[in-house]
Amino acid sequence: MATALGSSTRPGLLDALDPEQRAAAGAPRGPVCVLAGAGTGKTRTITHRIAHLIASGHVAAGQVLAVTFTARAAGEMRTRLRSLGVDGAQALTFHAAARRQLRYFWPRVVGDRPWDLVDNKFRLVGQAANRAGAGTEIETVRDLASEIEWAKASLVAPDDYPAVAARTQRDTPVPVAKVAEVYRRYEEVKNSAQVLDFDDLLLHTTAALEEHGAVAQEFRERYRCFVVDEYQDVTPLQQRLLDAWLGGRDDLTVVGDANQTIYSFGGASPRSLLEFTRRFPEATVVRLERDYRSTPQVVDLANRVIGAAHGRPAGSRLQLIGQRHAGPEPRFAEYEDEPAEASAAAARIRQLLDGGVAASEIAILYRVNAQSEAYEQALTELGIPYLVRGGERFFARAEVRQAMSALRVASADDGGRDLVTSVRRVLAKVGLTEQPPAGGAAKERWDALLALVELAEELATAVEGADLARYVADLEQRAAAQHPPTVEGVTLASLHAAKGLEWDAVFLVGLADGTMPILHADGDDSAIEEERRLLYVGVTRAREHLSLSWALARNPGGRRHRRRSRFLYGLIPEDHPAARVARSQAKPSGSKARCRICGGVLTETMEIKLSRCGRCPSTVDEDLLERLKAWRGDRSRELKVPAYVVFTDATLVAIAEQRPADDHALVSISGIGASKLERFGAEVLAVVRGR
Ligand code: ATP
Ligand code: MG
Repeated sequence: MATALGSSTRPGLLDALDPEQRAAAGAPRGPVCVLAGAGTGKTRTITHRIAHLIASGHVAAGQVLAVTFTARAAGEMRTRLRSLGVDGAQALTFHAAARRQLRYFWPRVVGDRPWDLVDNKFRLVGQAANRAGAGTEIETVRDLASEIEWAKASLVAPDDYPAVAARTQRDTPVPVAKVAEVYRRYEEVKNSAQVLDFDDLLLHTTAALEEHGAVAQEFRERYRCFVVDEYQDVTPLQQRLLDAWLGGRDDLTVVGDANQTIYSFGGASPRSLLEFTRRFPEATVVRLERDYRSTPQVVDLANRVIGAAHGRPAGSRLQLIGQRHAGPEPRFAEYEDEPAEASAAAARIRQLLDGGVAASEIAILYRVNAQSEAYEQALTELGIPYLVRGGERFFARAEVRQAMSALRVASADDGGRDLVTSVRRVLAKVGLTEQPPAGGAAKERWDALLALVELAEELATAVEGADLARYVADLEQRAAAQHPPTVEGVTLASLHAAKGLEWDAVFLVGLADGTMPILHADGDDSAIEEERRLLYVGVTRAREHLSLSWALARNPGGRRHRRRSRFLYGLIPEDHPAARVARSQAKPSGSKARCRICGGVLTETMEIKLSRCGRCPSTVDEDLLERLKAWRGDRSRELKVPAYVVFTDATLVAIAEQRPADDHALVSISGIGASKLERFGAEVLAVVRGR
């Protein structure tokens, strides 16, 4: 392999790789395939390969096009390339790459008919469903939209849809013929509105390259070297675009892990990855087994999760070998209900933060986005900053949309002021105050607006003289590429959105059967296997701390009808002490908690803590609350523990509202058990009595 490392390589560039990684990164131009498990350095290998090919003069930076699937992963690739001194190589999502190319070639292949991206696809599918008489319930329209996406990603046209759907036994929301009809009408309404959806970007770019010789020639002169990360998740449509890019050439490096295929439902397939050598028999093929990301404890769990897999991707799996020092054992815990699970995660995160782990190095990962709410509440309660990742949420937020339209209006009449000042002035009108609000939803809105200011600061530094119009154009591009700005905080993300990323501490939450695996996978072996791979992706995101938890009921006092995920059964003994501990610590279920003012049933953690529902007025004694906080401060300093270990804010508020007069009243406050009573009871009662 030494011959592959030309003498012109920048000294030391490939030294940061192990021998197998180096073989892939240093291979001469031509097809290369890296087939390897999570955390083995695939992304690291391709970024080094790009740097190597450029440094050794094989290719110019501007001739490299690297693609991946999520905007965050593309951003990660760009960061890594920059740190290797590579400037000018493109690292984009398939969609962003196609979008740029289409913008460039559109006038030549279509003419001066304008186009824009669909801004509300759901509405168009709804219209189509209505015209086709397929029902317009939200659920149905959502399922129809996904089915149309699957068809387009799979290169299935409306006319061919019924036959393909029958052959592949698609589980359709309405009869197959109706889906085809909605699909056809969707294309019609979209065309008449002169808008394109995301898949059209790829379809049109492919067509431009396939059907216009001059376009293809110009493109192929411009780009010579192609790299695909996470190749196991390529769809037939993306593969077709990739082939159009290549135009028969073979300068292609792909890396992937069939055991991380998690987008099959959207048409992705690991086939291209697994059959790469059949297509390119002369390819350099490398397999990596050493896991550099995670501790042996995390690696061991990952091996066991994927060890139980069945089916084709499972045949290609390799046992990962952990390279890092030993770390803590993964924690498993069972809770009575979701709020209790969320509070426990937030409390543990507080400990990690106090122990020096950065908030941006912590993630809470869940199966479906709806799960984020309980965690947002629990983190807010402890004053922990967080950001919700996933899809277009940032740009879909009401205040961000409002801000963008205000900025758009202002940009038409830009007085040429300093960009950041102009942005601040406009955002002040939509609610950006000087000081952040105390917390909760208002703080989150404020953080989102502040992130927009930070983007303006970034732009002003990067591009001299950038004005509002340029800034708005940048924002729109980010919105289209689903590339939200970074906000310092704990990441809340779906498992799908976490692919390719890593954090020091990862909390895999909601691991109850019916959520993981998701209910609708039941009875479909391949869907269950995809869920298992999703859990594997989750486990392998953690460098050091890994927590896996689930709850028996959704709400406090609710029916305990859930059980832990079937994927965990072989991993922890039934009588695992962690599970028992969690169970005994959790609140007793059974009798429902009620509001002490109106008597209504309480469901939220905070309501139960305060014994008061959100609708009834607070009776907090502010003066008492201040005294309790002062007492807690003294105690926590004395005991050298964080303040919340003595009592959380919520518990202090509950005490200041309920003014307990004796031990009995004190322990009836949630959050105060026998040991707290013994340690602090007398002192707290004295503070309440005003002594
Ligand atoms: P995934 O399948 O999750 O995308 P991956 O195979 O792409 O994982 P990387 O993200 O490239 O893995 O690497 C995982 C971590 O291990 C990164 O932090 C990377 O910097 C580190 N790493 C990889 N290879 C080495 C190496 N040879 N020496 C030291 N650290 C390494
Ligand atoms: Mg990777």
